[in-house]
Amino acid sequence: MAHVLIKDLVKTYPEKKGPGVTAVKGINLEIQDREFMVLVGPSGCGKSTTLRMIAGLEDISGGSVTIDGKVVNNVMPKDRDIAMVFQNYALYPHMSVYDNMGFGLKLRKFPRKEIDVRVREAAEMLGLENLLDRRPKALSGGQRQRVAVGRAIVRKPKVFLFDEPLSNLDAKMRVSTRAEISKLHSRLGATMIYVTHDQVEAMTMGDRICVMRDGNIMQVATPLNLYNHP
Ligand code: ADP
Ligand code: ADP
Repeated sequence: MAHVLIKDLVKTYPEKKGPGVTAVKGINLEIQDREFMVLVGPSGCGKSTTLRMIAGLEDISGGSVTIDGKVVNNVMPKDRDIAMVFQNYALYPHMSVYDNMGFGLKLRKFPRKEIDVRVREAAEMLGLENLLDRRPKALSGGQRQRVAVGRAIVRKPKVFLFDEPLSNLDAKMRVSTRAEISKLHSRLGATMIYVTHDQVEAMTMGDRICVMRDGNIMQVATPLNLYNHP
């Protein structure tokens, strides 16, 4: 089970002088277990800030984030049972693909054998079996993104968060990686929250789509119902 509840969530970035910028203005959103929820909207509307507050990477100015019935406002990111995939992949350049994928488990003191099983399983899912000894700089953009996804998978988190994961890929690679993430969603049966500014990505990937604008949620609907409102 992985249910995420966002209640009256607010984020105001303080500025050195002046009133600050309210990036998220009291939003409410419920993400069901195993749902693929896409947050979509123009650049600057507060998608990434919302995702980072769910991850615990950004302090909350007001409201709450609840994961499986537990308010996590004061829970450290590493204790939230979530894994996040970033736009820029955030791989460690000096580590092999294998070590990049296993590093989070190593930090959490998983036994080497368990790390090995999980890394190889994720590599198989993502077609990375033959690249495990390479460094990130010897990979294509698409391969790097796969390693970033693999690093999330090995953790077996309840919730996956994606922040514009395809925006550094070329058009062709975007389409194939999109399909792959959708496939992983079915295979893993995980709850996923996915941020994009790309409406086509949102429409093809989301079970439901949450449309944001200027720090507010305008609409939450399935792709079929999204633009059918009066
Ligand atoms: P999106 O992900 O939809 O592009 P963001 O959540 O990144 O939007 O940004 C929402 C608003 O908050 C924007 O006005 C942006 O400039 C501002 N913002 C984002 N991060 C910071 C920060 N670290 N400090 C100050 N303002 C920020
Ligand atoms: P190694 O195989 O690297 O010697 P150990 O078997 O000694 O690792 O385990 C290292 C630590 O990881 C121990 O404290 C152990 O309790 C913990 N651990 C073992 N299995 C798991 C697991 N599945 N999840 C989380 N921690 C685990």
